[in-house]
Amino acid sequence: MTAPAARLASPLGRILRWGAGAAFVAVGLLALAGRASVWAALAAAVLLFAVLACGVIFQSSGVFARPLISVETSRREVAITFDDGPGPHTAALVAALGGHRATFFVIGERATPEALAAIARAGHEIENHSLRHSYLTPFARPARLAQELLKTSTLIEAACGRKPRWFRPPVGLLSPRVARAAKLSGLQLVGWTATARDGVAGRTAGDALARLEPHLRPGAILVLHDAVDRRPISLDVLPRLLQILEERQLKSVTLDELLEK
Ligand SMILES: [Zn+2]
Repeated sequence: MTAPAARLASPLGRILRWGAGAAFVAVGLLALAGRASVWAALAAAVLLFAVLACGVIFQSSGVFARPLISVETSRREVAITFDDGPGPHTAALVAALGGHRATFFVIGERATPEALAAIARAGHEIENHSLRHSYLTPFARPARLAQELLKTSTLIEAACGRKPRWFRPPVGLLSPRVARAAKLSGLQLVGWTATARDGVAGRTAGDALARLEPHLRPGAILVLHDAVDRRPISLDVLPRLLQILEERQLKSVTLDELLEK
């Protein structure tokens, strides 16, 4: 049996970023010297913008950072993760997991020591999903974001005695600032293999399950969502998801366990 290995986002994203940047500078200089058209410079600018936008939006692009997106493992394990808790339904999610273990990416502002301790007591892992879950996180100053991440990590460690290791940025949005803040706060970036997108309005449990099902194989990191303002769809997805995992002889474990040598 080979030891599990982390699989990170594409290494090509960074090359693409430098390539698009260099092309923009080169064509821009040629246009200034009158040796290339303004349209060519504009096209290079649009290309650079598209690459940078992909880097922010697509966590697996690798343009700005290479978060963990899955694990190569010979064990029949996946990692179910829940973003956006804790909330009034977290205890129900914990109960629905039965003998499976999951990783909860919590928002610092929503966390109480009691809620975090209850998740940890049930054998689940708690990780960092930011302090405030701002959609503007990619533009935050690294020092300030790092401070907020440390605040959330401290809350988690005080409640359950384990220092968080992973940071999943809100909506998976990345930027050089997010990568810098994660480094400053001693956290590693994690994305996902598949997301149920169950936090999106109008999404049904069937839609969410259909998004996850093709990816249910060893080493997959799956995202579902907890919620505070409504009953999370994940409560309906979970029983069927666990049934499919069991039919395929797969078990959900925590991220630490998935990567354990
Ligand atoms: Zn989130």
